[in-house]
Amino acid sequence: MKKNSIGILGGGQLCQMLAEYFIKNGSEVYFIDPSANPPAKFTKAVHINKNYDDLSALDELINNCDLVTYEFENIPLECLDYLEGKINIFPSKQILSISQNRLNEKNNFIKCEIKTPDFISFNKKNNLEKELEKAGIELPVILKTNTLGYDGKGQYHINKKEKIAETINLLDKNIDYIVEKKIQFQKEFSVIIGRTSKGEIYHFDPIENIHKNGILDISISPPRIQNNTKKEAISLAKKFVERNNLIGIIAIEMFLDLNDQILFNEIAPRPHNSGHLTIESHTISQFEMLGRILSNKKMEQPKLIKTSIMKNILGEFFITKDHKKIIEKISSNQDNFVKMYNKDEAKIGRKMGHITIFTEDIENSIVKINELID
Ligand code: ADP
Ligand code: MG
Repeated sequence: MKKNSIGILGGGQLCQMLAEYFIKNGSEVYFIDPSANPPAKFTKAVHINKNYDDLSALDELINNCDLVTYEFENIPLECLDYLEGKINIFPSKQILSISQNRLNEKNNFIKCEIKTPDFISFNKKNNLEKELEKAGIELPVILKTNTLGYDGKGQYHINKKEKIAETINLLDKNIDYIVEKKIQFQKEFSVIIGRTSKGEIYHFDPIENIHKNGILDISISPPRIQNNTKKEAISLAKKFVERNNLIGIIAIEMFLDLNDQILFNEIAPRPHNSGHLTIESHTISQFEMLGRILSNKKMEQPKLIKTSIMKNILGEFFITKDHKKIIEKISSNQDNFVKMYNKDEAKIGRKMGHITIFTEDIENSIVKINELID
């Protein structure tokens, strides 16, 4: 018999932290991950060490779990096709499919009457300069693969005309791209928002994000933006999740441009790196928010307890720094919370862990943690 048990597709750090929440609260967790030692293996969750499209793996979830969720976007939709009708999937396959394709994602923003940077759909066989001219988009632009991009991967920045031809040369004619206006933004932030099966909405206030080389580097809560921008960001996020009938949580990445306009960048229908600081800094973490929504438990609006920043630790820190000593020093301060994901190999650009820091002085804390980690 099925009881109080959740299935997760993907066993990375997001699954790890979500599983930690569920297990602490008495649920069982099963997760599928084809790699031998994914981060979630270091929890009490059951590791189904098979490919996502292995039907026997999916059957294990169907037979053992009450529902299925996922911790990354690029799950083959055929897996969800197989699961659908046999077990509940939250957030829905429909929302996942929007997030899997940047063109669908942007068109969905437009359908919801939400602004996004100007863009065109593009393929190598077309003339980029002409297409941009037709759409009235001037350089600089960013060219992105429609599918499978993350942490800035699959993106090409084109800042001047001379770079167009060499960039086009790098492209694959079998892949579709979007080309979007590169925004000079004042701020980048995300709204993590949840919606229950009854349509109740809960959200975190926007979290400010600073990226380096297309990868999240630092998150800040509360964000250094005006109150009216916060309110507008939340109301746009509410509109988006209502229009798309979300059940679960979603992170929406947004830009604030130089004209104080909010533009949606992309969505992730799952816990998000920018929400890791909520574990310590809020009354309810993003994992708990998702957990409570999935288990139909009573929810309340999460509140900020303490001003915090989060710094990601990438593989290069382990490769180039005296990492043990530095982590020991950081951990000795009771306002710092170090979380390592137990990944077996440190690679450049790979997310290995993060540190959340309670602070009264955001600017100074950023300078100090950057000196230690970068
Ligand atoms: P990914 O899926 O890799 O996170 P994003 O579209 O979020 O892809 O791009 C990664 C980062 O690159 C963004 O967080 C932002 O800092 C920068 N970026 C992406 N698109 C734009 C844009 N149109 N204008 C300016 N910066 C952008
Ligand atoms: Mg992004």
